[in-house]
Amino acid sequence: MKKNVYLFGAGKAEGRATDKNLLGGKGANLAEMNRIGLPVPAGFTITADYCNRWNELGTEKAIEELKPEVEKGISHIEEIMGAKFGDRENPLLVSVRSGARVSMPGMMDTVLNLGLNEDTVAGLAKKSGNERFAWDSYRRFIQMYGDVVMGMKPESKEDEDPFEVIIDKIKKEKGVELDTELTTDDLQKLVARFKKAVKEVTGNEFPTDPWEQLWGAIGAVFGSWNNSRAIYYRKMNGIPHHWGTAVNVQSMVYGNMGENSATGVAFTRDSATGENIFNGEYLVNAQGEDVVAGIRTPQEITLEGSRRWAKLQNISEEERKEKYPSLEEVMPEVYKQLFDIQKKLEEHYKDMQDLEFTIQEGRLWLLQTRNGKRTSAAEVRIAMELLEEGKIDEKTAITRVNANRLDELLHPEFDKSALEEATIISKGLPASPGAATGRIVFFADDAETWKAKGEKVVLVRIETSPEDLSGMDAAEGILTARGGMTSHAAVVARGMGKCCVSGAGGIRVNYKERKMVAEGKEYKEGDWISLNGTTGEVYEGKVETIEPKMSGNFGKLMNLCDKYTRMNVRTNADTPKDAKVARDFGASGIGLCRTEHMFFEGDRIKAVREMILADDEKGRRKALDKLLPMQRGDFEGIFEAMDGLPVTVRLLDPPLHEFVPQDEKSQADMAKELGVSPEEVFNKVESLHEVNPMLGHRGCRLGNTYPEITEMQARAIIEAALNCKKRGIKALPEIMVPLIGTKEELKMQEEIIRSTAEKVFEERNDTVDYMVGTMIEIPRAALTADEIAKTAEFFSFGTNDLTQMTFGYSRDDVGKFLPIYLEKNLLEHDPFQVLDQTGVGQLVEIGTQKGRSTRPELKVGICGEHGGEPSSVKFCHRVGMNYVSCSPFRVPVARLAAAQAAIEENK
Ligand code: PEP
Ligand code: MG
Repeated sequence: MKKNVYLFGAGKAEGRATDKNLLGGKGANLAEMNRIGLPVPAGFTITADYCNRWNELGTEKAIEELKPEVEKGISHIEEIMGAKFGDRENPLLVSVRSGARVSMPGMMDTVLNLGLNEDTVAGLAKKSGNERFAWDSYRRFIQMYGDVVMGMKPESKEDEDPFEVIIDKIKKEKGVELDTELTTDDLQKLVARFKKAVKEVTGNEFPTDPWEQLWGAIGAVFGSWNNSRAIYYRKMNGIPHHWGTAVNVQSMVYGNMGENSATGVAFTRDSATGENIFNGEYLVNAQGEDVVAGIRTPQEITLEGSRRWAKLQNISEEERKEKYPSLEEVMPEVYKQLFDIQKKLEEHYKDMQDLEFTIQEGRLWLLQTRNGKRTSAAEVRIAMELLEEGKIDEKTAITRVNANRLDELLHPEFDKSALEEATIISKGLPASPGAATGRIVFFADDAETWKAKGEKVVLVRIETSPEDLSGMDAAEGILTARGGMTSHAAVVARGMGKCCVSGAGGIRVNYKERKMVAEGKEYKEGDWISLNGTTGEVYEGKVETIEPKMSGNFGKLMNLCDKYTRMNVRTNADTPKDAKVARDFGASGIGLCRTEHMFFEGDRIKAVREMILADDEKGRRKALDKLLPMQRGDFEGIFEAMDGLPVTVRLLDPPLHEFVPQDEKSQADMAKELGVSPEEVFNKVESLHEVNPMLGHRGCRLGNTYPEITEMQARAIIEAALNCKKRGIKALPEIMVPLIGTKEELKMQEEIIRSTAEKVFEERNDTVDYMVGTMIEIPRAALTADEIAKTAEFFSFGTNDLTQMTFGYSRDDVGKFLPIYLEKNLLEHDPFQVLDQTGVGQLVEIGTQKGRSTRPELKVGICGEHGGEPSSVKFCHRVGMNYVSCSPFRVPVARLAAAQAAIEENK
């Protein structure tokens, strides 16, 4: 029989850290912490595999199947903790928590204090000697269980939680403001009213039998794997839906048993910057959820952190000491124990840990450890510093960094001089670094709709909750008035790599009127603000940004990558400026220079339009003569920026209608400028019209029908290279023919290119080396690559067109159905972003193999959008490509992915 429940406690465990797939991250690490002798409350984990089975079998059958194992689990906890489930004298209370393979913070459900009823609450009161605490735990339990298991949590943001309404009412009756001011009597009343509300809303009595409670909670946690938040989170992070969550049932320990109890969250290193400094937050006399919920202001664990925090919040040392002392000051002994444990955990896991702890009446308990979520900057710094400290080796350091997130490090930063001029309107905590500028919105769904309209927004909330996830995703940055460095907003923003300032206490948010007040001034929805997530500063208006640089640990990581990588990384660039940016990021050449992008400015577009309007070759040549010097100049600039590195220049590709205006007024303007009648322009535009322009008169079809275009372009390239040579610049042109489907198409273009080059060499009495190759972007070209390689000296896979033509999805129209396809899981990814290895990938493999069967030294690369997407880059490595080419800002991403591919291959 399959084992579904794994026990842990008292220094022993059935699972271990490597069992994450089975026990979820939380369960595996709870087991591991037991194994290494840390104080962990006893418990058991129901496997993640059982999540699917639970949903398949249905509640009743699943309970029947699981019952023996779960009963054994409870006895195991009872034995170790010396208490009994449901016992009126000495009751055992448990928590029931989710825990998937990878952490999905706050997305799924949790139930605490389970096992309480009218009998056991008395037992708890007696045992703890604290009646108020017992009743407070009971009312919290009903509230949580009611929300999570019995479905009382309101669906929409407009509706209030019925339990909160009752609490507010009782507080009003009593004339008090804080929950903590409610007496035992009040709490007892509250419990009665809560139960009544449960009956009214759900029609069912609140369950009193602890076993019924337990099964309800287990089912709800399994069920929460499929709530909409969790589904959204999985989509955003590419987590498969079939993994499921495990369920952890664990003995409760209490951080809210008085002034010598506390609860907190800690990191072994700074999760925002990566600095090697122990840090975290705690609250005295509180339960775990209070720290993350951002309702009370949490205090820093270390004295140093506490002082730093006070400075940011403009709080004097006296006030800090009195109101917000660190754990180091308040409970020095426990602090020391915690400090040693965090060191031990990092040594053991060899990575930055994020841990949760509870101090119950002076005794420390660990409730969780996991590899801490961190910003991409912190990820790089931590990997490189662990390497320097000798804790991990080079290959591990490289694979520790998530290539998908690396471009976060390449986001713009605020321009220093612009910052000096800007007005600071508030200061909060530097929860997640970066620069963000946008218009204020107060609700997550507004953030989404505004973004869809093309607006940049900053989401401003009192605090965020898991419901706000998609809005946070849509926003440029997040600002909260409450909450610390481990508040929901802060943790989630760091995970997303999104700029966030949390706990900006000087801001008053008014949701009803959709405005906020800072420094006495009002800011309404739609007003611009800027956030500096690195310093915690909030600015009025738009602050200018500048492009970032690759330095420090990032630079070191990139150099390390080059040691292991086999593929080169080139860039797609059509201006000297972009070429330079890419070169600074380590590009080793240009893999695609789209020449048409040079045709759009000033005089050029005029000459291009003249060429298009011309009736015959003579007319076209006249216009092309005007274009020649401009193109030559462009190429010279690019060759210069790429001095010594290869530059692949692609001949004209798009259909000609893209160069002429489509509306009547612009057509009239064009006619005026060119000195022809509006009808002439109109008729020409009409004649260029195609039903399927993407499959129409474009690519080499242009160069083969109008050879003079290819002639002009080939001449411009060769002359530019010769001019460079004269100036001591080494140009290495690779001339690339687009969109061929047959060997004859390429052959014809090659002949034009080579004869033009010969002519130029003769005229100039000088030569340069150059290559002629082709794009492989039509399935037929891939399938006949052996023939094509007789002519082509290199191949570059144009996976944008190749994807279009393999799927039969128009690149220009896919937006109509793709989102729905993704929603319905008809496709796992957008195939224009992530290379479809199963289908399109086959053509890439066939093309590469066939090409090299004719020409073994054939240089093969990719220049479609996929060249900068990590999983596609890894595929290109496996196929044996020589290089990938991507946009300048993706170059570091591709370099990292290429190195990772090489390391993974050798494993
Ligand atoms: C391609 O098709 O992949 C390609 C790089 O060319 P373009 O996107 O310009 O059609
Ligand atoms: Mg193409």
